[in-house]
Amino acid sequence: MNPESAHSEEQHSPQRRNRRRRFRRPRHDRPAPESQPQGAATPAARPSDSKPGRPDSKPKPPREQAPTGRPQLSIVVPLYNEADALVELHQQLSAALRELQLPTEIIFVDDGSKDQSFKVLRELYQRDRRIRIVQFRRNYGKSAALAAGFERARGQFIVTMDADLQDDPMEIKHLLEELQHGDFDLISGWKKHRHDPFIKRISSKIFNRVTGFMTGLRLHDINCGLKAYRREVTSTIPVYGELHRFLPVLAFKEGFRVGEVVVKHHPRKYGKSKFGPSRFSKGFFDLITVLFLSRYTKRPLHLFGVAGTFAFIVGLVIAGYLTYERLMLKSYLTNRPVLFLAVLLMIIGVQAVSIGLLGEMITAANSQARSYFVKEELGGNRR
Ligand code: UDP
Ligand code: MG
Repeated sequence: MNPESAHSEEQHSPQRRNRRRRFRRPRHDRPAPESQPQGAATPAARPSDSKPGRPDSKPKPPREQAPTGRPQLSIVVPLYNEADALVELHQQLSAALRELQLPTEIIFVDDGSKDQSFKVLRELYQRDRRIRIVQFRRNYGKSAALAAGFERARGQFIVTMDADLQDDPMEIKHLLEELQHGDFDLISGWKKHRHDPFIKRISSKIFNRVTGFMTGLRLHDINCGLKAYRREVTSTIPVYGELHRFLPVLAFKEGFRVGEVVVKHHPRKYGKSKFGPSRFSKGFFDLITVLFLSRYTKRPLHLFGVAGTFAFIVGLVIAGYLTYERLMLKSYLTNRPVLFLAVLLMIIGVQAVSIGLLGEMITAANSQARSYFVKEELGGNRR
């Protein structure tokens, strides 16, 4: 992992240069960097472009933007009970996208909200042709929401952001700039000046340090909601359970280039955080999962099989020796506590190998499994 290489330095102002950190793994099979989306972009239509006299009877506010062909940028917004923030979020997002001038789609994934979120989204959907909505039947968690968004995203670039107005949509252009100029596959936001409770900030710092140490990817803010991806990353990395916290790690382990950019962060204005203190214990177990998955995901038997076989063989040798003593030297086993160790090791060995085999079966059976179900979907075939 090489920090900072020189070639992209001249493309940035000193101010932006200070905001960047990069991590890369050598990859020799990468094609040359793609051209900037700005270059290929068709200028987006203005609100006044919307066509009057649509079949709906109600008078509608002007449509935000008529997409021109296939979107190049997909914004994925997972949300759970964020009704109060959505209109403001849409305004901020529209202002930011106006500057970007890229054919864009905005995919809101309503993760089974119990408040008015879906209703608000549907109103926005009727005004803005860039919007698509996926509504889950129940709350499956942020990872499933992101996975649903990734699956549907058609853009060459995918940006994720939280719906609670804590992430600033004006940062999207900085993320995209870095993704292209820095020749990265994933750019993660870094909430350097973070507006969260102290306990959350400090535990997040520890979490980032430990994860960096264990995985080799030393980012400041692995779990930032604001991230930009190249399409190949989102179509390669599986997101389920609570693995959204580790997307940069999973990408890095797959050989993608991961960088980070400092982004603005705002205090939560409406509602409350959806992740309580349990996030830390879950984060720890997820870290073990990530380490396991990135090495043994398709071959659990390699881990359990090796450990189990080793334990079994040690147990067998001890038991063999005790048997030799009993048969040849006629000594009694009643005063040999090591017998228990031998039995224990052999049992553990057999069990570990069996767990490995079960893991293999589960991996094989689940390779095509889907982890969420959609209740309603709007705009799926919007062009
Ligand atoms: N979120 C979600 N499903 C969940 C929990 C959260 O889609 O089960 C969304 C939430 O609505 C927000 C984002 O994920 O848009 C980040 O959540 P939150 O702001 O609660 O996390 P924090 O900022 O406290 O880390
Ligand atoms: Mg938040």
